[in-house]
Amino acid sequence: MADARDACGVFGIYQPGNEVAQLTYLGLYALQHRGQESAGIACSEGVTTTVVKDMGLVTQVFDERRLAPLDGHLAIGHVRYSTTGSSNWRNAQPVYRPVGDAGFAIAHNGNLTNTAQLSDELGQLPGIFDPNDATLDSTTDSELIGELLAREYDDALRSDGRDLEQALLKVLPRLEGAFSLVLMDEAHVFGVRDPHGIRPLVLGRVDGGWVLASESAALDIVGAHFLREVEPGELIAIDASGLRSIRYAEPTPKLCVFEFVYIARPDTNLYGQSVHSARQRMGEELARQAPVDADMVMPVPESGVPAAQGFALESGIPYGDGFVKNRYVGRTFINPDQKTRGNNVRIKLNPLPSNIRGKRLVVVEDSIVRGTTTRQIIAMLRASGATEVHFRVSSPPYRWPCFYGLDTGKRSDLLAADMSVGEISDYLGVDSLAYLDLDRLLTATGAPSEAFCTACFSGDYPVAVPDVDTKFVLESDAEIDLRIG
Ligand code: SF4
Repeated sequence: MADARDACGVFGIYQPGNEVAQLTYLGLYALQHRGQESAGIACSEGVTTTVVKDMGLVTQVFDERRLAPLDGHLAIGHVRYSTTGSSNWRNAQPVYRPVGDAGFAIAHNGNLTNTAQLSDELGQLPGIFDPNDATLDSTTDSELIGELLAREYDDALRSDGRDLEQALLKVLPRLEGAFSLVLMDEAHVFGVRDPHGIRPLVLGRVDGGWVLASESAALDIVGAHFLREVEPGELIAIDASGLRSIRYAEPTPKLCVFEFVYIARPDTNLYGQSVHSARQRMGEELARQAPVDADMVMPVPESGVPAAQGFALESGIPYGDGFVKNRYVGRTFINPDQKTRGNNVRIKLNPLPSNIRGKRLVVVEDSIVRGTTTRQIIAMLRASGATEVHFRVSSPPYRWPCFYGLDTGKRSDLLAADMSVGEISDYLGVDSLAYLDLDRLLTATGAPSEAFCTACFSGDYPVAVPDVDTKFVLESDAEIDLRIG
């Protein structure tokens, strides 16, 4: 699947006695797949907080020179994807909010669903949704959280000393939607997950310190070991006295099932399950659900690889490669419009005619969102001499837009929104098409079915969302983006 833009990635570290900017850089590098448009790090040595952020990949934003001013033993970082119209520096994170002689930085993965209500509560807030107004740092709902915290933090500052924790405990219950947050001031690092835990966040231990990261794979790269997931509805505070866990809301776990399908790295664990193994099991389930006579099972690289391996294993059909992927093209789409995405397919994938010619192929993909890429992939296979193309998708039809931090575009952009599987099969030009049933997908995760958000497949949104029509309105206004992950 290559036509949905990913959620964001967050990272936090508190490690006394160590300069942590380099480790934060490495952590963000491991989370690059979650967002390729901007990257940023906030770092403190206990007195001042320095923020460096810019548009681009982690390796484009940071080099020795730009890491050099990031002194200190506590830091947070962020990688981000955004939609057209909000691709600007001011939307890059972490967002820093000065408050009196103090301040804090915040990095957010997810999307709030009650931004309108919150901004009403805040009253006149010049510029919060105005990208041309420099009074606020950016136009995202992350900025809204920053504003809510800044107001409470100011009060806390006056009454309790510099206490971002108190501000968080006042603000978090007012937020609705998806939010995995990392925050810091000059003395503390915080990690927060929304009561549904829609986006992942894990806690690790590193030589005398603590690490927070969107995915466990980011712990590995910094030499940290996994302790546990941050619980839904949990606030974790880390400072010189150690780690405190505060439950600010009752948990009702609804992890995004699409993290298992596509978003998360295969070497990440979610709900204690290996994502790679789960994807293989999805392929095995798919082979049992929709068997077909064929000569070769091949993936759409790279996201379809584990499911294709599982399909081959279960079906007994030999596994082979039909495409070579350019290793240096990630999930990056510099100009995310339909026309450009089309051109990008050939840049990323080139067919191997010697492996394809004269064969009946089972082509396995993890998901189809818009379908533009998939259609071109199939046309390339046919042009390379495939005699039959049987397309197998290791998740159900993606019919409903995500309001919780994955940018899949508006409903009318979703291929399956109003088309039957038969119509999609005709549109793609395949000999047969099958999608994995939702119950089989949930079984393949190895985790309890009720612990997932499945809204994009089922329409069953675990947190009330604005009317889908509202999403159309927001989508049509390129300057207003309330949905950045
Ligand atoms: S709607 Fe889909 S992509 Fe969005 S959080 Fe739910 S399962 Fe994940």
